[in-house]
Amino acid sequence: MAAKNSDAFARINFLMQASALALSKFPQSKELSRFYTTHATQIAQKKVLRLHKSMKRSICKKCSTLLRPGVTARVRTAPRREKHVIVTCLYCGNMKRFHCSTVNKWNNTDTFVSS
Ligand SMILES: [Zn+2]
Repeated sequence: MAAKNSDAFARINFLMQASALALSKFPQSKELSRFYTTHATQIAQKKVLRLHKSMKRSICKKCSTLLRPGVTARVRTAPRREKHVIVTCLYCGNMKRFHCSTVNKWNNTDTFVSS
């Protein structure tokens, strides 16, 4: 017997990989990549599924752009307050902040989206 929602997880995984591939093949045209990412998040919302942390952290919450450092995102470290990493979406300017204790999880984003 297949696990519950395995089809949805497989579909989400496929869409995220397709999004990364579209972004690497056509870096000027980000609309296709954004479409795949939006569709993956919509499936997760409709099925009430949690995206893996690495997936969730690689998607802009505001515009659903796949955040790839140097292509669609800027990554900076900030020593003020607590040490943290700031990931800025280059399309809409939305920022994500991660404390340094969670930075290692950010580095694992390439495990599922190979470029
Ligand atoms: Zn954005």
